[in-house]
Amino acid sequence: MPSSEGSVHIIGAGIAGLAAAVRLSGTRKVVVHEATAVAGGRCRSYRDPVTGMLIDNGTHLVLSGNRAVLDYARTIGGAATLDELGADFAFIDLATQARWVLRLNNGMFPWWVFAKNRRVPGTKASDYLPLARLIWSSDDKPLKEVIDCSGPLYQRLLEPLFLAALNIKPREGSTKLASAVVRETLALGGQACHPLIAREGLGKAFVEPALAWLNQRGVTVAFEHGLHKLQFEGDRIGALVFANETVPLGSADQVILAVPAYAAQKFLPGLTAPSSFCGIVNAHFRIAPPADAPTMIGVINAMSEWIFTFDGRIAVTISDAGQWFDTPREMLAQDIWREVAAVLKMPADLPPWQLVRERRATFAATPEENAKRPGPVTQWHNLFLAGDWTDTGLPATLESAVRSGNNAADAIGAATRAAA
Ligand SMILES: Cc1cc2nc3c(=O)[nH]c(=O)nc-3n(C[C@H](O)[C@H](O)[C@H](O)COP(=O)(O)OP(=O)(O)OC[C@H]3O[C@@H](n4cnc5c(N)ncnc54)[C@H](O)[C@@H]3O)c2cc1C
Repeated sequence: MPSSEGSVHIIGAGIAGLAAAVRLSGTRKVVVHEATAVAGGRCRSYRDPVTGMLIDNGTHLVLSGNRAVLDYARTIGGAATLDELGADFAFIDLATQARWVLRLNNGMFPWWVFAKNRRVPGTKASDYLPLARLIWSSDDKPLKEVIDCSGPLYQRLLEPLFLAALNIKPREGSTKLASAVVRETLALGGQACHPLIAREGLGKAFVEPALAWLNQRGVTVAFEHGLHKLQFEGDRIGALVFANETVPLGSADQVILAVPAYAAQKFLPGLTAPSSFCGIVNAHFRIAPPADAPTMIGVINAMSEWIFTFDGRIAVTISDAGQWFDTPREMLAQDIWREVAAVLKMPADLPPWQLVRERRATFAATPEENAKRPGPVTQWHNLFLAGDWTDTGLPATLESAVRSGNNAADAIGAATRAAA
């Protein structure tokens, strides 16, 4: 390892920080500093004491078009725990009880649009043409100014797709981000839209194998080692201040700040970054789903948005869920279960449950907030930024987090080469 190149200190062991560490390990001495006792940040599994189940803070959906996150999972050895489903999406409209399955074909040419039994019921092939306008849309506006946010195609496909990907009511969402989602998934055909689900939990797919992989390569991950302050020295960071020690930085040492946007702004006053956030609620129920239940089902005209079925467990995701954060927990669990019971035709008695409410799950994916995202390079020549909120061109997702970590690692490589 070329010690003349100095060390890289990565602040934050979320997926962005871990991805940066994976990319840099073997080329540099890397140390990761994590404030909490666990890695994974907003993508984590834990043993829930109430239900006794291993649950994720939120069921994370990755699509086969998310190349960076899949490369990362393959590199660390976590990909084998991801279950890849076909590009068949089951839906139910709770208002009308209509059920259908959207069946995308694998190739690039979307002939599913021309097949009545594969496309969204109530739509015709020409309804899909505005998607092309969306893909090539260049300036950023709220989605409602670019596509018609009404009618069956919107309500039954675009709204659930963009709500899940952007975590904001799609009408207000950024057209640029929605367009990037379509370009990297739907527009590439069903082969880019296969859902991958971490059946054994997010930890086993994205976090634990990364820690083992990094450990084998001599990367230290220091837990409960939260950064308190950056010490500035002209155009560089001179030292990292932690609770019990100050780590001086040598002239060749570099830092990647891979913390959430609000934490980065605390360390870097004046940093332009997203400052408005949207929440996600996840409900977990300890009960075996019916044998014929699909692995995932989209729910329209309901509070529940996606229902996922696992062995002995059912999980529900509600995006942009700010309106449910003040509802008493038991009442919310009961209301969600009522919908699950209706969808899966199960008894109405509430099974053992747990709710996870993440208030700042993602930055608000509006055009205004999207415009505030900085790139990896800062005005301090040894400080770089990573995190799903940095400018990756994607909404705040695992794909964005991994790409941001890769971008920061590549920017470090470029800066090191330029200084040599
Ligand atoms: C409920 C929920 C559901 C989601 N669903 C999906 C999904 O279906 N598909 C998808 O692709 N994405 C999903 N996401 C988004 C995805 O989880 C995030 O985009 C991704 O995990 C962000 O990773 P990150 O490393 O950028 O940030 P974080 O995960 O926030 O990591 C930042 C890390 O920095 C640490 N830290 C903070 N301050 C300090 C400090 N001072 N010193 C040291 N360390 C510090 C934190 O403890 C944390 O570990 C979901 C998110 C949530 C919350």
